[in-house]
Amino acid sequence: LSSLLGQPKAWNKLVSFSKHLPQSTLLVGPNGVGKRLAALSLFQLINCVENPEREPCENCVICKKITAKNHPDWIEIIPQSNSIGIDEIRELRKTLNFSPIESKKRFIVIRESEKLTIPASNTLLKMIEEPPAHTHFFFTVQEKNQLLQTIQSRSQFVYFSPLDPPILNEILEKKGFKIPSGLEEWVFDLLEGGVDHSEWFSEENAFVFLKDTLKYFEKLSQITNKTDRVWDEIVLFSESLVQEEWKLSLYLNLALIWSRKMALKNSIASKEWSHFALQISHLFTRHSLHANKKIIALVGSTLPTGMGLSV
Ligand SMILES: [Zn+2]
Repeated sequence: LSSLLGQPKAWNKLVSFSKHLPQSTLLVGPNGVGKRLAALSLFQLINCVENPEREPCENCVICKKITAKNHPDWIEIIPQSNSIGIDEIRELRKTLNFSPIESKKRFIVIRESEKLTIPASNTLLKMIEEPPAHTHFFFTVQEKNQLLQTIQSRSQFVYFSPLDPPILNEILEKKGFKIPSGLEEWVFDLLEGGVDHSEWFSEENAFVFLKDTLKYFEKLSQITNKTDRVWDEIVLFSESLVQEEWKLSLYLNLALIWSRKMALKNSIASKEWSHFALQISHLFTRHSLHANKKIIALVGSTLPTGMGLSV
């Protein structure tokens, strides 16, 4: 099961569920570490015509159908915006009035379920409490507390960890990205242990841009005693990138990672760094971009209370 590399614990737990599936399962962990893929593989495992014990064959007609998202009993709710509303869940409920079509069991996978509104969550809760026949719910979520307590208490938990660099590297290579030597550490920092942001590297000349930007940060490293000037430089450069969202996003994340490295080396005082990183995080917000969660959490913890981040 090469595609699930790096999550043996989570997979073992899911396999142990396969004979007696829970009504509701929370798949908990960072984005891009294989939560959905694990649920999909479990669905394959219990439907595979080879009747395997531990791993689906991935080759039979059913396995292939599932991989191609062509199986009528695999239903995914994917947020189309910043929330999953009650209308979508009501629509889902209608579908569930019918029995599974081809399989003995039906999987409902709610992706990024932290985006469920309260009314949508409550409707789902009722469905879990009085489940339609042969229907099993899977919620992917970054942290379990982002879901209603009442849903948590009716669910089994499976935890996923960030992926290790060698595994990330393998996945990137499968996607056709070869990290140029010397850039590995930066790329892994940028990916935050998942593959959700690997699309950056599918852009033409992404690694060239990365290399050039790092050279530019190297120059900034010479003037870290003048944080105001560094800050001006960063803002100025970011303005030149607003037409190309992927570059801006990559650049600002690099700025965050670079400045953190500078703070760890004491080239930037830690108090100055918090202020600095807070300003960068405002740029993320202004351009509606994703900011490195690990580092943003660090900024949050170094700020005086009441100065929370809205990223
Ligand atoms: Zn199969």
